[in-house]
Amino acid sequence: MADSLHALARLRAVFLDMDGVIYVGSRPLPGAQALFDYLDATGRQWMLVTNNAAFTSQQFSDRVAAMGLRVPPERILGSAEATASWLRYQVARGWPEGKVIVMGQGGLRSALTQADFELTEDPFAATYAVSGANFELTYRDLADVTLAIRNGAHFIGTNSDRTYPTERGQVPGAGSILALLVAATDKEPVVIGKPNAPMFEEALRRLAVTPSDALMVGDRYETDIVGALALGMSTVGVLTGVDSRAAFEAQSVPPHWVLEGLPDLLALLRQADAGQGMAP
Ligand SMILES: [Mg+2]
Repeated sequence: MADSLHALARLRAVFLDMDGVIYVGSRPLPGAQALFDYLDATGRQWMLVTNNAAFTSQQFSDRVAAMGLRVPPERILGSAEATASWLRYQVARGWPEGKVIVMGQGGLRSALTQADFELTEDPFAATYAVSGANFELTYRDLADVTLAIRNGAHFIGTNSDRTYPTERGQVPGAGSILALLVAATDKEPVVIGKPNAPMFEEALRRLAVTPSDALMVGDRYETDIVGALALGMSTVGVLTGVDSRAAFEAQSVPPHWVLEGLPDLLALLRQADAGQGMAP
């Protein structure tokens, strides 16, 4: 316990999932703002990391502001923006410049254009085919992206979440659209979102920290925790969202800590810092 508290005190950055960690639906969870304030006061960096590709960082920031949480847009990374940044990074490292055909909506389109990609509707002019959730898709959209991939466009998915929660229940998400495109093309996409490495790598790059300096806080073992453990990050599972304590603890590699919620994480950090003489 003393060793693990020592490790916690030394962390320089904290990444948090959004839904089920800082809010549920439109209800903020206790302790979120107090944790952000404590991380700021102790000189630690933090960032919210979500597979949701429907909104820009500014839109996410406005949504959490309506819940009374102060989170500047640069502290929010959604999978639309992560996908655009990741692809720009690959092009800088030698992938070809080229146009992008998009299966997706405004958030993904604007993230790609802000990363200086030219979008195209022509499947035979596309170097990249990027697919996310699209709640207005038509057969024509599916056919065009299929043709682009079959014609050799690099196939990239924002995230593989198969369903998307709505007031009416679970509806098809980005992963279900990817499954259709896989069936139609016999090609497998590179997927950016959690639990895949690109999303975490983009988040780490933005805060200029290494995995061993970073803590990931999530409510879902399969996405938040699996991906972070694979990169060597420390992990906290919280019980305010999808997974129960029993579900976390039944895993062959459980999270480093399983906590009721963010107030317990803040208490643990304070205890760790006090033990190191680092409390503010
Ligand atoms: Mg979640």
